[in-house]
Amino acid sequence: MNWWSSNKLRLIQNNLREADADMDVDKLISEVKQYEANVLMMNAGGMFAFYPTKLDCQYVTPYLKKDLLGEAVAKAHANGLRFIARFDFSKAHESLFKRRPEWFYRTRTNREVNYDGIVHTCLNSEYQQQHSLRMIHEVITNYPVDGIFFNMFGYQHWDYSGNHYGPCYCGNCQRRFQEMYGLDLMQYEGPEHELHSKYKTFQEITVREILQRIQTEVKAARPDVAICTYFPDYVDIIRKESNTALHRSLPLWLYSASENVASVQNNWDDKLVSNCCINAIDLTYRFTGISRHEVEIRLYENIANGSGLDFCIIGAFDGYPDKANLDAAKAVFRFHARHEGRYGELQSMADVALIKPKSAGDGQAQKEYEGLFKMLKESRILFDVVLQERLTERREALQRVKAIILPAIAELNDAQRETLAGLQREGIHLIATGRALQQDQASLEQLFGAAYSGSSNVKPGSYLDVSDTQWFPSLARRDWIIAEQAFAYMTFEPGAQCLMPYISPASFGPPERAYGHALSEWRGLGIANRGGSGAYYPWNPGALYARHGFEDHKLVVTDVLSRLLSGKLRLSVEAPPCTEWFLHRQPDGSHMLQALNLSGFNGTTYSRPLPLDGMRAELRGLPVPQRVYSLRTGQPVPWQTTEAGIAVTVELPEVYEALIIEYTRETLT
Ligand SMILES: [Zn+2]
Repeated sequence: MNWWSSNKLRLIQNNLREADADMDVDKLISEVKQYEANVLMMNAGGMFAFYPTKLDCQYVTPYLKKDLLGEAVAKAHANGLRFIARFDFSKAHESLFKRRPEWFYRTRTNREVNYDGIVHTCLNSEYQQQHSLRMIHEVITNYPVDGIFFNMFGYQHWDYSGNHYGPCYCGNCQRRFQEMYGLDLMQYEGPEHELHSKYKTFQEITVREILQRIQTEVKAARPDVAICTYFPDYVDIIRKESNTALHRSLPLWLYSASENVASVQNNWDDKLVSNCCINAIDLTYRFTGISRHEVEIRLYENIANGSGLDFCIIGAFDGYPDKANLDAAKAVFRFHARHEGRYGELQSMADVALIKPKSAGDGQAQKEYEGLFKMLKESRILFDVVLQERLTERREALQRVKAIILPAIAELNDAQRETLAGLQREGIHLIATGRALQQDQASLEQLFGAAYSGSSNVKPGSYLDVSDTQWFPSLARRDWIIAEQAFAYMTFEPGAQCLMPYISPASFGPPERAYGHALSEWRGLGIANRGGSGAYYPWNPGALYARHGFEDHKLVVTDVLSRLLSGKLRLSVEAPPCTEWFLHRQPDGSHMLQALNLSGFNGTTYSRPLPLDGMRAELRGLPVPQRVYSLRTGQPVPWQTTEAGIAVTVELPEVYEALIIEYTRETLT
């Protein structure tokens, strides 16, 4: 068993500046210990060496007057902390550029990117292909570090000021692209170009290839060293970040930490996720933090979803000008330290699996997925996220859910289609939204009995008729909902249940002319029967909900889901949608019910949440417990048996609660 396998990381990252090279390590360690952290991450090498390197491919910061890395690793270990060494190979000092210009990124016009004396390197250059491995080797063989982390791994097309430079056209990239495809990389012009999918594959393959080499060499030298970066392949700890950026478009993503953890958590048995809460508002403003209430939500979402804790500030704590969030972060870290036996090994009890589309990098697919994520959260439906590319491998886990949702999945490969078809035959319902599989006729037909007519409406002013209260009871008294954005005209097989008549667009202005809307033959939902159902929405309730938040678009999905599952959800809660719920099984057979109070979030601001009390949660199928108690207070919590299982009453005076439901040994056997 590896040191990280227990999945109980409490990680503090000090993202050092050059000037921190002479920092007071004792002071830092004493601060980190106040968090009861168990892992310290600090800079080691790459762009700047924080130790006296012997390699001339690595620039040593002139601020270095001692072996900071050596001292930090020794003192971390002496204080019971693991140490992860941070590297950044994405850029290098301009003195190296002068010596070896062929190691560096090039624009289309063969220009380098020099950002205040720091120059962008290229993944395919000798610098990253060979010298990065020498730097890693030097650190892991000279210092007893416990892990290595790579910042900004892969291809970087932007500088820190947000200027976009596009793909690298250096000689090495051109050569490898030519070798891979027999094509000239100079023809490729960016995301809209016909070579874009080839370029994406080129990036994927080359990133995977170097990570594999790093893994092979690191594990040969030091099998006890954890490898950590933002990519999933050949790493032990997948890093994610919950961060904000001033120029990111609204709405804010309330479930950042939950999504970051959930989208890794149930996808690999041998990898951890560490989702870093970035305290800074933006990388242009590294010295002022976000709201402490947002920090609390991120950290509790991390542990509630089954991960550990991870918190980062710029520089050392000493001299850091914003202490406002530190006590809040400390409190969550200490809570986790006190109860760590309860975290990190949570077993899923999900009713639903939400498949994250492989094309989620594309804005529309991502929005559709986020909208579905938000709907399920607000409806307190327990769900796991499974990555589309892991769908086939996770078949066994998918067999345990009752429904699988496919938001804006562009296409399925044969194995994925067969996996889903098999699960559907076994009685698991499939629901597709966001014009999923529009160009994948085989999957549409096999799973949903649907066919795309080849045309869509993009004109505004169309609606969907939801007056069928059998199917849409939550929308009683509202007959029409808006069908903004593209609606695909689909036909459904004979025998399919066709719902939600589509009302074709008509004139909306002037008001005297706002009439003429007519029911069409097209439908906004078709449900085929395949053992489990195949429910297909040829439009985008998820993206509409993510963007505008009208509950109509949530209810037309959750009403159908609830009906397909006959209302037999594992968890039913009488609580406002601004709460987030989790129910897991523990390795010792007990259950843990967790709740987050998100009522302090009003759309743009995070403030103190309103106290919520007397929320009744019914847990279907759970046996009679021996006792139920609050992890927060240690006090017993009243419970009753119900027809379906048990019911407990949950109080949320602050942001988080966890109830432990324990059984007698006889009950468990
Ligand atoms: Zn290049």
